[in-house]
Parts: sequence; structure tokens; C-alpha cells
Amino acid sequence: MLLCVFAGQNIINFMLKDKNGIIFGVANKRSIAWATAQALHEAGANLAFTYQGERLKENVESLTSAAMPGSLLLSCDVTKQEEVDETFREVGEKFGRLDFLIHSIAFAPREALGGEYLDTTREAFLTALEISAYSLPQLARAAAPLMTEGGSIVSMSYYGAEKVVAGYNVMGVAKAALEASTRYLAKDLGPRNIRINAISAGPIQTLSARGVADFSTMLKHHAERAPLGRNVEAREVGNTAVFLCSSMSSGITGEVIYVDCGYNIMGI
Ligand code: NAP
Repeated sequence: MLLCVFAGQNIINFMLKDKNGIIFGVANKRSIAWATAQALHEAGANLAFTYQGERLKENVESLTSAAMPGSLLLSCDVTKQEEVDETFREVGEKFGRLDFLIHSIAFAPREALGGEYLDTTREAFLTALEISAYSLPQLARAAAPLMTEGGSIVSMSYYGAEKVVAGYNVMGVAKAALEASTRYLAKDLGPRNIRINAISAGPIQTLSARGVADFSTMLKHHAERAPLGRNVEAREVGNTAVFLCSSMSSGITGEVIYVDCGYNIMGI
């Protein structure tokens, strides 16, 4: 569907024309959020970006200034409620109406992403769950009042939410909470015509991924076992996000959509 050609242009160019969205989680050019932003931009959307602290401001500025000049850039650490409130106040001021939100953020202390899950400290558990899972209802609550004509919220999950992936540990537990939150939020937001779905992406080499012990083995294993015989590309995740933010997916909410070259369907 996304590859259909209309009057010489990819149909993706029209899918989000005049839609306003906010993207959480661009750290650098390898971020899934950046590939997603490029797909959303090509689909015609107006975008706002958040970055976590001044450290990442320069990265986001240099990426957007060339490709999407004039984008709204806001500092937002989800552990600081006042920054979340200010972000949505500014988005409301600039856009008036919000149509979609991309949640592409996660964090766990490096020492919790290796060894045994049994050894996860209280502090690591709470940090991982707060940033990677609680932030979804937190951001959805702030975004919903601006989604006056309905909306779409998309987050990023991983297979470690449902099956044991060695080393993924507390992040697997956080992703399980993220996926369950997606279903509960879909129930709450459905009456306002706000849909919410998670994309379960196959492994992709990014900054966060480097924190997971033995990530290169994970990449190799996925490519060998996936029906498509390769790893997924960030842009393929982005294209799926365009679909989920567009009216083409108007009947889909509360779902986890796999974009993993088919890895999850395999038994023996
Ligand atoms: P990434 O580029 O490192 O993106 C992660 C983002 O989360 C960064 O921008 C990071 O900012 C942000 N973040 C961390 N703590 C935050 C906080 N307190 N407030 C606001 N933002 C915060 O890595 P990625 O792989 O693209 O990850 C994006 C999403 O995809 C994550 O949810 C991840 O779990 C998910 N995912 C990734 C893979 C994969 O294999 N890469 C597979 C499936 C799902 P800082 O850099 O400042 O920490």
C-alpha cells in the first residue's frame, strides 16, 4: 500500500498532509525516531521534536536544520513533569491541534542490561520502568487534550517483552509494561477517537542498542532465523509508523505490530 504510485509520486507523500505530530527520542541519525521522523516528514506532516537536555540539542538541531527547517525543538526529560507540561504548552501554542505522538524512548542503567535479571536492583528497576514504560501514559495524558480531532500514538517495543532474550533483562519487563499500557490506554482513549499502538521492532544498531550485552550476536541470530533472512531497517519501522498515524489504520488500536522481518512467527 505504501508503495503505490499516484500521479508520479509515492502515495506516502499525501498520507499525513496538514497533520501535526511530536516525536520523542531522536538522539542521533541512527535513532529509530529519526528514521521515523523522515518518513513522517515525507508523508507531509508538520513535526515537533523533543530532546533530552542540552547535550542532545546540537544533534537534533543539525539533523532538522538541513532536512526539516523550522521544526519546533523542545527540551524534555520525561522524569521531569514540569518539562513535559511546558513541552505540551508550547506544542499547543505552535500547532493548536496535535494529531500524533511518537514515543521512541527507553533507558535502563547499563549494569542492568547484562548478567542475570535476578540481580536487578530496585533503583535500576524503577528507573527503567519509569522512563521506558510510565512515560507512555504520562505523555498520552498530556497529549490527549490537544488531540481534538482524534489522534494516534505510537511507541516502540521489542520481542523481549514476551520471551526471554538473554541480557535484555529489566528492559524486557519494561517493554511488557509498555505493551500492557498500550492496551489499557487504547480502552481509555478510544471514546475520544485516539488510537494507540506499539511497533515491536527487530534489533537495529543504535546508541541504546549498544547498551545491551552481546547485541551483535542478537543481530546475527535474528537475521539467520527471520523468514526474510535479514534484519529490519529503521526506515521500515518509520514507514509502519506513518501507516499507524494515518487514516489507513483507522480500525487498529491497542495492538502490537511486529516489524521484525517475521522473526516472531518462527518456531522450529
Ligand atoms: P536511541 O537512538 O538511543 O533512542 C533512545 C532515546 O530515548 C534517546 O533519544 C534517549 O535520549 C531517550 N531517552 C532516554 N531517557 C530519556 C528521558 N529521561 N527523557 C526523554 N528521553 C529519554 O535508541 P533507539 O534504538 O532508536 O530506541 C528508540 C526506541 O526503540 C526505544 O524505546 C527502544 O527500546 C526501542 N527499540 C529499539 C530496538 C533496537 O534494536 N534498537 C528494537 C526494538 C525497540 P538519551 O540519548 O539522552 O538517553
